[in-house]
Amino acid sequence: MTPDARVYAYSAVLMGSPILLKLFEHNESLASRVFRLIKQQENLFTVNRHDSDVMAINHAAGSHAVAVSPPVFHLIQCAKTVSLLPDSCFNVTIGPLVKRWKIGFSGNTVPDTDELQALIALTDPHDVILDQPSRTVFLQKAGMEIDLGAIAKGYIADVVRDFLHQEQVQHALINLGGNVQTLGAGGEGGWAIGLKTPFSEPDDLIGVINVNGKSVVTSGIYERYFERDGHRYHHILDPKTGYPLDNELLSVTVISDNSIDGDIYTTLLYGMGVKKGLRYLQDIPDIEAIFVTKDQQVVFSSRRQFTFTPLDSRYRLVY
Ligand code: ADP
Ligand code: MG
Ligand code: MG
Repeated sequence: MTPDARVYAYSAVLMGSPILLKLFEHNESLASRVFRLIKQQENLFTVNRHDSDVMAINHAAGSHAVAVSPPVFHLIQCAKTVSLLPDSCFNVTIGPLVKRWKIGFSGNTVPDTDELQALIALTDPHDVILDQPSRTVFLQKAGMEIDLGAIAKGYIADVVRDFLHQEQVQHALINLGGNVQTLGAGGEGGWAIGLKTPFSEPDDLIGVINVNGKSVVTSGIYERYFERDGHRYHHILDPKTGYPLDNELLSVTVISDNSIDGDIYTTLLYGMGVKKGLRYLQDIPDIEAIFVTKDQQVVFSSRRQFTFTPLDSRYRLVY
């Protein structure tokens, strides 16, 4: 790559999100293959269409086991494992609650506590029965629903990275609606990824994260939410209460090798909050996080795999 190499950006809307691909060559055909690959993957995992593999499992809840393709089995197995970690707020069977809240879709209403309690009875990850030899998934109770929304984009970002690598691409960036995965440095200083200022104009940034061949995933409460009676309801739910997770955080960003880890950990750390999250990450050096709090602090767990350039003086950096 020469220092003045031009970046070509390709965009699409898939999985209900804006998708951006950056390459250092003009290559429409490669971009179309990437978007086709994403579409194919979405078709396996989505719960917003009736004919995906995941919906086949959900339709058969309480009735029978369904045989699925290896990637679907793998991702559900992984999501179940994360759901069963001690104190995990990640729940692969959160589907009935997500569907009831409809956050990000039209027709939002706030459910009452009794209704949420009844739905929580359908969200025990132990009730997801996996059989490796036959590659089947069975949801034990009628009404249960798997939702891979907190992990699928990360997984797909890695699939795209692996595909581009196989195609001998050395520098590229894929952004799946907040899940960024990169190949190479993309230029001097690495790929620059903006950390958005919450509840602000899309171009307003708290700062810029620079990485080389790493994933950067952000999950925040300012992307998908609705407001009712002065209250803001966002899209990451607390499986214990059925209500959106409520703590000091506005967003969590995770820097890691694989985007699937970034996607898992943003959700997990969101549930832990800053103090517990920082303690948790002490034992996992490859996963680094940036917490943005409601009182405008930007807290870093460490900064080994990235550099950060602050752009908004209202936010206080805490190392
Ligand atoms: P983003 O949508 O910003 O990528 P996440 O990766 O945290 O954020 O995923 C949020 C999505 O995951 C929700 O839209 C919903 O489909 C699902 N979800 C919501 N709450 C939970 C939860 N506690 N555990 C697992 N998945 C969840
Ligand atoms: Mg996500
Ligand atoms: Mg996630």
